[in-house]
Amino acid sequence: MTKKRFIIFTKIYMKKIRILFLLISLVSCNAKSQSNNKHGKEYIVAKSENEWRSELSKMSYYVLREAGTERAFTGVLNYNKNEGLYVCAGCKAPLYESKYKYESGSGWPSFDRGIEENLEYDVDYKIGYPRSELKCNKCGGHLGHMFNDGPKNTTGQRHCINSAALIFIPSIE
Ligand code: FE
Repeated sequence: MTKKRFIIFTKIYMKKIRILFLLISLVSCNAKSQSNNKHGKEYIVAKSENEWRSELSKMSYYVLREAGTERAFTGVLNYNKNEGLYVCAGCKAPLYESKYKYESGSGWPSFDRGIEENLEYDVDYKIGYPRSELKCNKCGGHLGHMFNDGPKNTTGQRHCINSAALIFIPSIE
């Protein structure tokens, strides 16, 4: 290969590489704009805030989408002792089973374990120190927090969950 041909070849090659990099950067920007989570995680159920707002009750929106907390002892499921399944109020993913619900006295529905594959563990610093935040792994909705003061004879965990983040489906006898 002559020197001239080598230069032409290099120029064409570099142009192709530049186009390739441009395409890659466009794809990654697009992926970024579709994310709906502070870590850039994409959820299976993704909706606009307007859609969530129109589908959820005011309290459920406040809890699930704004990581709010309902006042203690005000949630309709706090004292629920019926057998059944607790699903996400946002996307209906099964999150908790009634057999793992217990009375913690905290004022919020409490479970010593959840349905792990549908839960996401995060950390929040909302009140100045790190707390283990629980979220729905399918839609990213905030559920509550996990503490280590649960029943010692089982898991030792307390999943402290807002009623408004859940829908209860009773078992059919
Ligand atoms: Fe969900």
